[in-house]
Amino acid sequence: MRILIANDDGYFAPGIAALVRACEGLGEIDVFAPERNASGTSNSLTLSLPLTVFEPRGAGLQGFRVVSGTPSDCVHIALTGVLTQRPDLVLAGINNGANMGDDTHYSGTVAAAMEGYLFGVPAIAFSQVDKGWVHLDAAAATARSIVDQVLAGHPLGGEPWLLNVNIPNRADAAALPRVVTRLGRRHASAPVKRQFNPRGEPIYWIGPAGDAREAGEGTDFHAVATGCVSITPLQVDLTDHAARPLWAAQLGLPQV
Ligand code: MN
Repeated sequence: MRILIANDDGYFAPGIAALVRACEGLGEIDVFAPERNASGTSNSLTLSLPLTVFEPRGAGLQGFRVVSGTPSDCVHIALTGVLTQRPDLVLAGINNGANMGDDTHYSGTVAAAMEGYLFGVPAIAFSQVDKGWVHLDAAAATARSIVDQVLAGHPLGGEPWLLNVNIPNRADAAALPRVVTRLGRRHASAPVKRQFNPRGEPIYWIGPAGDAREAGEGTDFHAVATGCVSITPLQVDLTDHAARPLWAAQLGLPQV
């Protein structure tokens, strides 16, 4: 088995090192990671600049390639131009912080996995719920255990699939119950913060994500709040299928 591992926190992030170590023995591992922290870059591709790929030196960086772009660039380049053999599985993470509810639209971690999925490769995004890497080894062991569990129950080779996994920062993470969830919803994020640069010009910081708004039973928020590992199957089709007949009727258009 060949595994492509990417992230959005950058190649130097402890989360990707831990995930790579945890996957040892599973198969051939290639790592493609951004040169710098690219959290919140969603599915963006770098179209206006050429990209560089280099192999970093240093302990624990064997098999790493560093890309001067986004998480999606990393997986895109790997799949379309650098890897000579197509991976069987794409893993992303482990992210520094949760990717739940509406976060998933902004997440570079989810996007890296989604890029694999869009190219027909099954993919899993892993995130630790709290920032700071506390109990990262436990999260990595959990990620490996979930990969093993998924592959045992759902062999590779059929239709691609995409899972979004959020792991509580706990020493016993690998022993926590795992639940298959749906995405919750968040309140709108906090307003931008306005400051002034040394030249007196206004600058703005994007505010933090809002609190959970829809966090009822069955959601990813509820799962991690009740001490479970959340596993959300994602799809990419944004079509509001239920609304199509309504819109067709309201616009006086035929239903197709
Ligand atoms: Mn990140």
